[in-house]
Amino acid sequence: MKSFIFRITTIFLAVFLLTNCSEKTVWRSTEPFETGGKLRVTATTTMIQDLVHIIGGEDVEIYGMMADGIDPHSYTQRASDVTAMTTADLIFYNGLHLEATLQRKLENLENAHAVTKKLNQDALIQPSEENTKYADPHVWGDPLLWAKTITVVVDVLSKKDPANESRYSSRGAAYREELAALNTWVKSRIGEIPAEQRYLVTSHDAFMYFSKAFDIEVRAINGLAPGDKGGPKKVAELVDFIKEKEIKMIFPESAANRKGVKAIAQDAGTTVSEHELFADACGKRGDMETAHGETYDIGTYIGMIKHNVNLVVDGLK
Ligand SMILES: [Zn+2]
Repeated sequence: MKSFIFRITTIFLAVFLLTNCSEKTVWRSTEPFETGGKLRVTATTTMIQDLVHIIGGEDVEIYGMMADGIDPHSYTQRASDVTAMTTADLIFYNGLHLEATLQRKLENLENAHAVTKKLNQDALIQPSEENTKYADPHVWGDPLLWAKTITVVVDVLSKKDPANESRYSSRGAAYREELAALNTWVKSRIGEIPAEQRYLVTSHDAFMYFSKAFDIEVRAINGLAPGDKGGPKKVAELVDFIKEKEIKMIFPESAANRKGVKAIAQDAGTTVSEHELFADACGKRGDMETAHGETYDIGTYIGMIKHNVNLVVDGLK
């Protein structure tokens, strides 16, 4: 009897959620793609929303599931997300188990594509922690690795919408060049930090690809997801490490709490950056930041990387 009532309640809830969130509240366009409207694309993280925005341009309408500051590791869907997933022509997600429980649902959808699906296994970082069985999903930390996701988006959009193939591929090619230039810029900025000060201490393990690409050692308080707490032993080791290396500044993240970082900084006798790093989400779209005579939108992937690099280099050099 109990399970019967439970099932009825679940069905009622599902119907309630679906009927309370119609296509109209999710998509601006009224015309479906099949009858001449724009391609409707749902994307999970803000980095992927930006990627689709750049490659799809005015030819697609994007519904972004996760906003700025959202932790993708523990994300739960809203009613509008369910509608967006069931009514989209295409869905893009990160994969590599970043989206945790959501990934299982996405894997069963034929029109859903992981942007990381073409990445070479050799390029992925295998975690050292025993309790994690999956590769590190934070591939956007390396701009050249992230650039490989462009091909997936260009191919998927072009296959669905062959009439605009040349537009998608030329935008993709231009963005690939921008990311190559970003990579060169990051390398040169990181080079400004004296080699003996090249340590990034932050909240969770989101910067391993960044570390590998730019030769800066990264230490984190928590594991691959912000919820994987480090424990007292790890914290004590980190405090010793900061003291030993005389690290000038450590960095909190937008998706994690500042308190834990502050406590470690106090124990280690170092300072906490006044501003936060963007780990698993870009900033707010349209928020402009100026540093070293250059202005960028921290709500974009390029702006997010520039913000992080300027913050770290200026704090450590
Ligand atoms: Zn993360």
